[in-house]
Amino acid sequence: MPTITDSQLDELLSKMDPKMAAHYRSTLAGDVAAVYCMSKTCKGRKIGAQNAAGQWVGNTPTKKSGLLSTRARFDGHTGFRCRCGASSITSPAESGIITSEAPTRKALAEVYERQQKNPAKITEHADGTVTVDGFKIEQLRSIA
Ligand SMILES: [Zn+2]
Repeated sequence: MPTITDSQLDELLSKMDPKMAAHYRSTLAGDVAAVYCMSKTCKGRKIGAQNAAGQWVGNTPTKKSGLLSTRARFDGHTGFRCRCGASSITSPAESGIITSEAPTRKALAEVYERQQKNPAKITEHADGTVTVDGFKIEQLRSIA
């Protein structure tokens, strides 16, 4: 089967309606990042990937592991929830304060204060990957 490079794809899509082209770019371009669950159940298994539109899409390698949801945390990191039960959806500073309800200014003041004392657990690895609160993120390329 023939393959198409990113620049050939750009050339092809440049002739289309910009909205449709953007849709195809986001769904056809290669993944931007991958996420691995570091729990005892998943043992570093890849559970999902971020597409060119910035969306995290789960894959479900087994019944027990796979990306269920993501959330933009107030500390700037992406939170993940895996089928195995592991979750970094709320940061340590947000835990018990941030719920499914819209946060109040008072709640955010508490999160702000707690972030200084109790930041996310971040490990930067020699291979360039970063583990945040139990989920390893591998940057594959930058968002075009
Ligand atoms: Zn997991």
